[in-house]
Amino acid sequence: MKQVLTLVVKLQPTSEQAKKLAATAKQFAAACEYINKEVKPSLSNRNAIQAVIYSEVKEQFDLVSNHVIRACARVAANRLTAKQKAKKVKGFKPTSFDCDKDTFRFREKDWTVSLSTVAKREHIKLRVSNYHRGKLSGQKPTSAQVCQHKDGDWYVHIQLKSDAPIVQKTSNVIGVDFGRREIAKTSTNKGWDGKQIQNTRDKYSRVRASLQKKASKGTRSSRRRCREILKRLAGRERKFQAWLNHNISKAIVVEAKETNSLIAIENLTGIRESTNKKPRSKTERRRSNSWAFYQLRLFLEYKGIKEGIKVIAIPPAYTSQSCNCCLHIGIRTQKKFKCTNKLCGWIGDADLNGALNIALWGRSVNTPRGSQLLTCSITEGLLKASSSALGG
Ligand SMILES: [Zn+2]
Repeated sequence: MKQVLTLVVKLQPTSEQAKKLAATAKQFAAACEYINKEVKPSLSNRNAIQAVIYSEVKEQFDLVSNHVIRACARVAANRLTAKQKAKKVKGFKPTSFDCDKDTFRFREKDWTVSLSTVAKREHIKLRVSNYHRGKLSGQKPTSAQVCQHKDGDWYVHIQLKSDAPIVQKTSNVIGVDFGRREIAKTSTNKGWDGKQIQNTRDKYSRVRASLQKKASKGTRSSRRRCREILKRLAGRERKFQAWLNHNISKAIVVEAKETNSLIAIENLTGIRESTNKKPRSKTERRRSNSWAFYQLRLFLEYKGIKEGIKVIAIPPAYTSQSCNCCLHIGIRTQKKFKCTNKLCGWIGDADLNGALNIALWGRSVNTPRGSQLLTCSITEGLLKASSSALGG
């Protein structure tokens, strides 16, 4: 499997060049909107989309062929993600466009990139740090995204592909239980307390509530200021969540590497989609809806691929209700799990029981003779969809 590192490098365009980048991004977004509107929603394969709409788009928009192809691919990728999250495709902002090996080239001798734009090809200087130099030196990247960030400046996100380490065969499994009392709990009894994040969330939600109140009254300018602050707060909360997820996933992957284990998690995606398997509780509903857990899983998979550690997702049924020793259904209260089997009688932390169950199922799935506990299919990799969307 290939792993992809995305390097974000600031561009230093002249003001003329910046105008051309903006014009290209505008055309690219308009083309995406058009494609998304005209091609029937059930199509989410980029080749299929391209087959039905390419010539129309090429005629109507001021874009080179490869940009049209990338626009088709962008719509396909967004449709796929939307499908996974059971949401509609969001609009396309005129702040970015995707490039391939023909529309983007990196030149090491003067640290520039050449980019196709609506006008002509432009050579734009990169602002490279030593880190960037180390990563880019000797590379011939074949795909990139040109983006205007919130600060108004232009950046290029360069995808660097390399071979991922080969996944080792192993029978060790670390089970990870997501977000009941703790954000994550491993079967090796490591936990990340949800308290800190809950407190932060509460703080933000209190501030938000008061700002929203203010945003509905007051003068026009003070209302606008409240809205701006609200937006900034949302960004900060998201960054905090991402920071936390990075740390948790890093620690779990490090442990998996040290103990030569694979990582088993619950498959929380798709709970919402299936009608006959409604989430059983409020907590589960929150978890299946939560972007945060989706992100945590994504991070685990990313870091897993880098380190050659397999991440498998098992169906979430029974992981919280059955006993990890004897598989009997037990009683769980907020914190404790108690096995009702008189011969067993395991009592312990409910989240740990969940994680141990996940590890158990993961182990059984990963044995050479195949599954002993379950016959249903195991999902692997949210990343498959997104890595194919990157353009193979
Ligand atoms: Zn038991």
